[in-house]
Amino acid sequence: MQAPSPLDVDVQYVKGVGPRVAPLLGKLGLRTARDLLYHLPRRYEDRTKLPPIAEARVGEFVTVRGFVRDFEARRTRSGMVIQSAVLDDGTGSIKLVWFNQPWVSRKLQSYTGEMIAYGQVRMGDWALEMNSPEYETVEDEEDAADFARIVPVYPLTEGVPQKLVRRAARGAVERFADSLPDPLPADLRRRYGLRPLGWCLRHVHFPTDLGEATVARDRLAFEEFLAIQLLLAMRRAETLQEEGTSFPISAMREPLWEEIRRMLPFELTGAQKRVIGEIFEDMERPHPMNRLVQGDVGSGKTAVAACAMLAAVRSGFQAAMMAPTEILAEQHYANLKRLFDPLGVHVTLMVGKLTKRQKERARNLVRTCQSPIAVGTHALVQEDVGFDRLGLVVIDEQHRFGVLQRAALREKGFGNPDVLVMTATPIPRTLTMTLHGDMDVSKLDELPPGRTPVVTHWKPPERRPEVYAGVRKLVEVGRQAYVVCPMVSESEKMQAQAAEELHRHLSQDVFPDLRVGLLHGQMKPKDKEETMERFRRGELDILVSTTVIEVGVDVPNASVMVIEDANRFGLSQLHQLRGRVGRGSHRSFCVLIADASTEDAQERMKAMVDTNDGFRIAEIDLRLRGPGEIVGTRQSGNLDLHVADLVKDARLLELARDAAREIVARDPGLALPEHAGLRESVGRLDPLRAAVIRS
Ligand code: ADP
Ligand code: MG
Repeated sequence: MQAPSPLDVDVQYVKGVGPRVAPLLGKLGLRTARDLLYHLPRRYEDRTKLPPIAEARVGEFVTVRGFVRDFEARRTRSGMVIQSAVLDDGTGSIKLVWFNQPWVSRKLQSYTGEMIAYGQVRMGDWALEMNSPEYETVEDEEDAADFARIVPVYPLTEGVPQKLVRRAARGAVERFADSLPDPLPADLRRRYGLRPLGWCLRHVHFPTDLGEATVARDRLAFEEFLAIQLLLAMRRAETLQEEGTSFPISAMREPLWEEIRRMLPFELTGAQKRVIGEIFEDMERPHPMNRLVQGDVGSGKTAVAACAMLAAVRSGFQAAMMAPTEILAEQHYANLKRLFDPLGVHVTLMVGKLTKRQKERARNLVRTCQSPIAVGTHALVQEDVGFDRLGLVVIDEQHRFGVLQRAALREKGFGNPDVLVMTATPIPRTLTMTLHGDMDVSKLDELPPGRTPVVTHWKPPERRPEVYAGVRKLVEVGRQAYVVCPMVSESEKMQAQAAEELHRHLSQDVFPDLRVGLLHGQMKPKDKEETMERFRRGELDILVSTTVIEVGVDVPNASVMVIEDANRFGLSQLHQLRGRVGRGSHRSFCVLIADASTEDAQERMKAMVDTNDGFRIAEIDLRLRGPGEIVGTRQSGNLDLHVADLVKDARLLELARDAAREIVARDPGLALPEHAGLRESVGRLDPLRAAVIRS
């Protein structure tokens, strides 16, 4: 349990809130004093300009102060109430105008005292005016608090006025800012040049200049990143301390690399060699490897995995490779068999569709270690496979189906094997650091030579006939095509209907003479596989599909993909889909059909046309659509940041990561007294977030 902090107090007890206002703040999700303090302004208004009214200029935002006269409220024929008053400071006057605000009438009807107003000066019919200014009558000087200064503007929601949040924030700052213990140790603050917490809270809410507000906000963002990075660093440190297998790789360096050269039909790229080197170093250490290999589609991850598996086998251990689907498992099986058969290393396939006898045989081969390599789906570890000496687990495409936990492996009695995770969805660096910060990351950032990149076109819907004519031409010379149906719904069922609809249209109206197949998520696994198999064998010319083809399907003869309503997909997803073509020697195409009317949409389509670099695309996607859209909602809870921003604060994140690793290296359990505050911050992380990071 977490020790209660003074900030956990219910927001209603903050000065200026109370039981009436608290429910309103609740609408903003602000329930405790902490919530309030960390509900940061969206922007600021500089009201420090307080010119004499005579010097107010049209177009400027200014604060003016004077005496109220000539209040009037009149109703127009359309029923609108227009209220106005004249504010006079002796140098000049300005007319203040409000629309339909009964409380303005109530307040000003009989008021002739002093008032402060803030707004933009405009030229009215007769004199200077201000429309819907913020105002405060000055009955005592405290009323003027929100004027003649830099004023925070908070994110709001329906029915919660700005002023109310501002007053509550002021109450919280006054009460807590000067007495809160700072979770960041003084030494850390000094080294990273960070201001104390209290100063930051005060200046982020009520800055005296905007530079201060930025300094304050950045420190709070750093603090937020730091807690997450500490959690990840602690987890990483745990793994690094566990006992694992030390594969004697240096001892067999020469013969191993010699065998790799014989095994692979090509020369490894520089990136592949580097990544294999990193993996080998991990494998040699007596602690379990926990490494993520990120590489765009076609960057050659399978070869890298094969080298790691060979090293495990030559060290006398078994290796398992897991894929998210049976189709993919079979593909890996075929590829690995081709590589390992000539070396006399047996590879076993373990998938659900094997007959009972086949399964029994496969299990036997694995159990007796006659087969050092097994390929399958997750069932590999869920079922009672019984490896003899499992040393390495390779997981392909992990964050499509939820990461397999090391703990789960251990629970199932697999000991503490090295784990290598491969992902073809390049995600931006900041996301990787946040989602997979407990892993070491290798990047395959180089494609094997001789690829002809997929040519991408973007066409508006009215040019569809032309696109179909192009597809027909390619089919006539023997190629095959994918048509991806528009994303109509989150519901699999409705999505399936859309695919059926498109299939009907294409097979009956557009390509009645061609063989058009259909693939969607609602089909029985057996039917899905049969369709895929027919497409692979060339018995279908066109495959209409939902995004179920996104992951890993390999049909080299398919050289064109048409994506309907492309604007409905995330860029990373489009890129992933596009990776299904261009896998053979044929020049390949991707056609995005999109009616992209907004600037954002145009930028997205242009990015797809302009680059084939998955990492660049992921960065653009992050900037345009935010983290949740990229990793999917399942993991995005983890990315729910209050202060920090994964797009703008990349540098702060790197700093926080370095700081976290340094702290954890010195004090793995955050047990030192000066780390008590940090320990508390980590403990306070949303349990959901902690769980997501863990999984
Ligand atoms: P990924 O899994 O990263 O999408 P693969 O491992 O399936 O990529 O490799 C894609 C294709 O590139 C395969 O046909 C593979 O044989 C080939 N390949 C991999 N590495 C190289 C290389 N260094 N040189 C030439 N071809 C390569
Ligand atoms: Mg692959």
